[in-house]
Amino acid sequence: MKYMIYLQPIGSVNSHVLRFLKTALASIRPVEMLDPIDIPNYACDKTRNQYEGSALLDSMPVGEGVTLGVTEVDAYVEGLNFIFGLASDKRALISIKRLRPEFYGLPQDEDLLNNRALKEAVHELGHVFNLKHCPNKRCVMHFSNAIQDTDLKDWKFCESCERKIKI
Ligand code: ZN
Ligand code: ZN
Repeated sequence: MKYMIYLQPIGSVNSHVLRFLKTALASIRPVEMLDPIDIPNYACDKTRNQYEGSALLDSMPVGEGVTLGVTEVDAYVEGLNFIFGLASDKRALISIKRLRPEFYGLPQDEDLLNNRALKEAVHELGHVFNLKHCPNKRCVMHFSNAIQDTDLKDWKFCESCERKIKI
């Protein structure tokens, strides 16, 4: 069974990125855009000025397909300084905060932001599709420890990962 992708904005999210993801992800699965949901206040860790990723993920609806959350707020999980995204069961989530060049003191670049968002989105969807991290640095399932890793990889699954996709 091939699950549809439901794109779920969490809070106010850049509309260009959302539209780009909707179009680009359609090459993987049919995509539908959901109305935005509020960022849950309880997910905020005020001392870190970050949002707990699992709490954000849990605030997303469970639908008939895969729900892919997109948020502008910075996210973390216990034990990590930050996360680009996470996935659990049929829900995945990406934060575009650290995908923006301006986060690193560089000029805004919409195309670069879009491409990074697509890579991180496909990566988290890959986890939903049962894939683990891949040693191939060019494969979208390679773990991104820093933004340079994201920029190095492609937005596609390598052949080996492609064969392992379960749902
Ligand atoms: Zn991963
Ligand atoms: Zn791979």
